[in-house]
Amino acid sequence: MKKRDELDPRIERCRERVRTARRVVIKLGSRVLVQHAGRPQANRIRGLVREIAAFRQEGREVIVVTSGAIGSGMEHLGMKRRPTSLPELQMAAAVGQCRLMALYGRLFSACRCKIGQVLLTHDDLKQRARHLNARNTMLAMLRAGIVPIVNENDVVAVDEIKFGDNDLLASLVVHLVQADLLILLTTADGLRKPAGAGRTRRVAFVGTVTDEVLGLAHGKGGELSTGGMASKLQSARAAAQTGGCVVIADGRRPGVVSGILAGRDVGTLIGPADDGGALNGRKRWIAYFHRPQGALVVDEGARHAIAEKGKSLLPIGIKAVDGEFGVGAAVDIRGPDGAIVARGLSEYSSGDVRRIMGRHTADIKSILGAEACEEVVHRDNMAVAGGNNEPAR
Ligand code: GLU
Repeated sequence: MKKRDELDPRIERCRERVRTARRVVIKLGSRVLVQHAGRPQANRIRGLVREIAAFRQEGREVIVVTSGAIGSGMEHLGMKRRPTSLPELQMAAAVGQCRLMALYGRLFSACRCKIGQVLLTHDDLKQRARHLNARNTMLAMLRAGIVPIVNENDVVAVDEIKFGDNDLLASLVVHLVQADLLILLTTADGLRKPAGAGRTRRVAFVGTVTDEVLGLAHGKGGELSTGGMASKLQSARAAAQTGGCVVIADGRRPGVVSGILAGRDVGTLIGPADDGGALNGRKRWIAYFHRPQGALVVDEGARHAIAEKGKSLLPIGIKAVDGEFGVGAAVDIRGPDGAIVARGLSEYSSGDVRRIMGRHTADIKSILGAEACEEVVHRDNMAVAGGNNEPAR
């Protein structure tokens, strides 16, 4: 008898989407790429590169998000332990990144496939001009048949401009280039759940990454899954929100990429959100590439106008302001119950919003003494959370 998650009618539809995916982001985790001591797993990487190049040669587009720079640098520099000081970590990344690229260069060349290096920081994708530039560069590479190899620019990234981890980076690359499939390769064969008698079994399909699913990687089920599964599920949830399918699978298994792309039952397949893909490019940028600097808490009338009627946020509907922010900052708009209604760019600083909140638009000029915008957050600068389309954290 088929297992329950094998009977979900959506699974065949998702597998078909995976089989026919045109643009794929493949994230290779550090533990897939480098041995415990940090030495690159050359044979394994060769196998993955062959599979990726074969896919590219079918005329489909692929972007690799790679980790492993720091590990590979540590090995080359003879560092026994991960350095604790930032300059030393960044030094290891600088050394390791070019070793990794040299290896990728050799292996892809042997498959007659061209590659290019793309190093990004969170800041690059937050600034609109640089965001569009990174997107255009990557799209040009894809049109030219080049495989972009993306990593965080670890050499300059400090906490404020860091992505966090490459799982998050991979989901942002999916949003940046509008990929239809994200493959997260790790050292686990997907998500696992308890199957009684202390055993676990692989979850073949997840329709939606709910809090319950996240709980399999966190909370009590934590010891059942390998480290990092929570961040993979967060990344999967974000990618699914704009209509992508996601597969989390064991990158150490020979043939894993071809198996996934052939639509076989490998790892855990995660389906796209029902309303996925509804956000245009600018709104995706607002929803996923900003960290909110504060929040505007609105009354029920404003929540309804934004969520149901497609309206902007006016001062009259604002009840409270959380945090301190300047003009143009990204803010969350929260309903009376605290739930996120939207994320948008504020036309006013937090101080000015506090002065005009609850007041009519016609009063703005007399309160602030200047001619200004009628809306606190204009509709064009707002990504509304709808069902699974909630802006990423
Ligand atoms: N950028 C880091 C590296 O290349 C990896 C970060 C991650 O795997 O999350 O070493």
